[in-house]
Parts: sequence; structure tokens; C-alpha cells
Amino acid sequence: MIIQIPSDKMDSNSYLLEENGHVIIIDAASGEEVIRRISDEGWTADFLFLTHEHFDHIWYLEELRQRLAVPVVACRLCSERVQDVKANLSNIADVLYYFKTGIVLEGRSESFTCRAADQVFEDEYEMEWQGHRFLFQRLPGHSPASTIITMDGEKVFSGDYLIYGEEEITRLKDGSTEDYEAFARPVLEKIPEGTLIYPGHGEIYRMGEAPEPVKRQAPDLIR
Ligand SMILES: [Zn+2]
Repeated sequence: MIIQIPSDKMDSNSYLLEENGHVIIIDAASGEEVIRRISDEGWTADFLFLTHEHFDHIWYLEELRQRLAVPVVACRLCSERVQDVKANLSNIADVLYYFKTGIVLEGRSESFTCRAADQVFEDEYEMEWQGHRFLFQRLPGHSPASTIITMDGEKVFSGDYLIYGEEEITRLKDGSTEDYEAFARPVLEKIPEGTLIYPGHGEIYRMGEAPEPVKRQAPDLIR
């Protein structure tokens, strides 16, 4: 079972992958709702995977680690960059939030850092879990640490790549169009039609198809 959990702060997504009562969390965009789902069901959180270092994907990382004692898996660069307010962009979160939503946050949001990941890899990594196979591929472009995670060769957790209806974003600090063209695009272009895409923002869809329309309550943007 795969559950999409949109953040309560911005439109970034966490995902829960459940198998036999065990769970992998992808990205720490959400905190309370992730913890609630896991504890309500009595699941065990085995790993937390990160798609990249940006603040809207790691907001709740330390809270989830503290409350679920879950080990974090990320590429080495991601592990380094979550520890740096300039690299994780949390030092300019307010500005990016404003450009994305048009809403000025009341009171400044604080810059923050996270601790290093517990398991790191360089550019590519494979692991098995509960009968599933994961392939991690670091694809710099959107950010230096951007990584896509392919599950069983048929589902792709794409982070900030392949967001339906959006151009690939390489203009944020440390993003690189050259890297995108050299590393990310060639891999992303080879993903076959019909592959399920689980992006870090927006709806789940199949490569080559539009997402199913979903009804969702508008998020309460100011808290
Ligand atoms: Zn990002």
C-alpha cells in the first residue's frame, strides 16, 4: 500500500509505503499525520528515504527521527546539505513560500538544519525490503543531491522532478541546467510510459497520462 500525505505547510508530499506492517517514509514533508497513521495502524517505521535536501522535504525530519527512531537513508551530498541552512534553503523559506503561494507568513519561519543521514550512498544504491527492490539514483539538476527512487522497476518517487504540469526547476540556488541536461534528463526521459510517478509535489500519475482528478480539502495554509 502506498499513501500520499501532503504537507500541512506547503504543497510538498510525503509518502508511506506499507508492507506486512512495516513502513518506509519517503520525505519528511509531513510530521503529525505521518506519525498518526503509523501509530493508529500499529506499523513499524523501518526507514526514511530522502529525495533531496530542500526544506519543504525535510521540515519534520528530526521530529520523525526522534519520535519513530527511524534510520534515514540519503545520498552523501543530501546528508551533508541538510545540515546547512543555505544548502537546504531554509534560510529563504519565507521568500520561496511567498513566490509559491502568494502568502506572506506571519512571523518569520526559522532556518533549520538536520543531522546527517544514518545510511549514505554516493550516486547509486540498491536495496531490498519486504520483497521490494529499490534503486536510488542521484540526478543533479534541480539540486546537487536530487535523487529519484525506483521501486520494483515500476514506481518512481521523483522528488522535485516530473511534477505533473510543471517545467523542471533548475533555477533555485545550486540548481544547474547543465547538470540537469547532462545527468537528470537522459535518465528521466527513459522512464517508460505507464510508469507510476509519485512526485514530491502534486498528484500521482502514470507517465504519459494525466493524473486522476482528486477531491481534496484545500490545505489550511496559515497556522
Ligand atoms: Zn526542491
